[in-house]
Formats: sequence, C-alpha cells, structure tokens
Amino acid sequence: MILVDTHCHIEMKAFNRDRPSVVRRARDAGILKMVAVGIDLEDSRRAVALAAEYEDVYAVVGIHPHDAKTIDENTYDALRTLAGSEKVVAYGEIGLDFFRNLSPKALQLRRFREQLDLADDLNLPVVIHDRDAHGDTLGILKNWKGGRTDGNRGIIHCFSGDVAMAEACVDLGFHISIPGTITFKNTVETRDVVRKIPMDRLLIETDAPFLTPQPRRGERNEPAHMVYTALKIAEIRGMEPEELGQITSRNAERIFHFPVFS
Ligand SMILES: [Zn+2]
Ligand SMILES: [Zn+2]
Repeated sequence: MILVDTHCHIEMKAFNRDRPSVVRRARDAGILKMVAVGIDLEDSRRAVALAAEYEDVYAVVGIHPHDAKTIDENTYDALRTLAGSEKVVAYGEIGLDFFRNLSPKALQLRRFREQLDLADDLNLPVVIHDRDAHGDTLGILKNWKGGRTDGNRGIIHCFSGDVAMAEACVDLGFHISIPGTITFKNTVETRDVVRKIPMDRLLIETDAPFLTPQPRRGERNEPAHMVYTALKIAEIRGMEPEELGQITSRNAERIFHFPVFS
C-alpha cells in the first residue's frame, strides 16, 4: 500500500528526539509524502526547514485559529515571504475552533477571512481547521470568492461534520480529509461521510502527534500509523487497501501539485 500523509506536525518538538527514525518508519510503511503543517509563524518556519531537509516532506504555512491572537502587523509579510519558499504546497492551517476558544471568537473570524484572502493572493490551496464551528466555517467558505479555479480550492482537515456538510464542501471545491479517529468506536457520522463522499475528494491524514488511531491509541501518533486509518477506511468503503492508497495519493498529488507517482 502506498499513502500520502496530507496533514501532520512532524515539525513540532514532540519529534525532536527521534525525527529521522519517524521519517524512516513512515517510508518503510509506504508513506510516500508527508505534509508538515504550520500552526504559527515559528512552527511554519520549522515546517519549511524540514521540507528542505527531507525529500519526501512538504510544507504548509499559516496561523491556526488557536494562535490568531499572535498575529501582528508583521506576521502576514513574514508569511508571504515564507510561502515563496520551495516545497510550500498550501496555506494553513487556518479556520475556526470554538471548542477551545484559545483566541477570542471575533478575532478568529477576522483572521480566518484575512488569511483566506492572503492564500488567494498567493494562489495556494487552503487547509481548513473547523472544530465546533461548522456553520460559520461553511458560511465563510461560501462567501470566499478566491482560490484555484481548477476545483482544487482546499482541504477540510480532520473533517468532523455530517454528510450534508461534506457534500456542501465538495460542491465548493474542497477535499475531505479523514484522521485516525475513524478507527474509534462511535464514529457513525464520520463513517457515513467516508461511505458517501466522491472517491476523488477523499484524503487521509494523521495530524501526528495527535489523534493516534487504534490499536496504537495512547501513544504519540506518527505518519507510519496512518496505515491503520487507511485499512479502516478501505473496510468502510469495501475496497482493497491498495486501491484506496492509489486513489487518495492521486488526490493529494492533484491538490498539492507535487509528484507522487513520478
Ligand atoms: Zn487542525
Ligand atoms: Zn493540524
């Protein structure tokens, strides 16, 4: 099985101790590419540095809704420069998190809209974080006129909405990315999403070091563990894991514009 981890945080310090082994285990597990996603300016810089260091790592830069409050008058200029680095394949992660509200709600909304416009300026697809904010996220994306015109406008990462929300996102030109939580019990709604969304809009991710799938739950997550998630999704879709890996890797190739098969 070949796979692409479309969303991980191997730039975070949880991997400082053993990052080369983490990357090696991912390669051994068939993970052909890993996308390291920034959450703030420093973290985005680390993601870009990792992409320069490892051939199979790519970077996404942006400011997470938790960190919306860290944005000052220099942040967007710095991100613009950083986005020009080699192997930056998207802008994010940006969005709304009304579960933890680590930045005030009104500020999250404002910074989300500003960063969507910045991504449009940079001609990059966007990586969206939406937790307990489905209505506002969808409303903002519906009103956003920017993004690539080829139907690959972005990704809703760690998708947690229902089928109707997934279909609305697909209609807007977004991909739906499924994390390891799909291996848990009580994921009826997400299983339904996995079953019903068009195959060419499905992506798989780890969000490592978070959201470790069964049977490794309780441990730090890492890209190699994505295999468990892929096996579960293949089971839900009733297809061969190899075929699922091929299709989702092609989807990743199409949205990130990096070569998986060549
Ligand atoms: Zn996220
Ligand atoms: Zn993330």
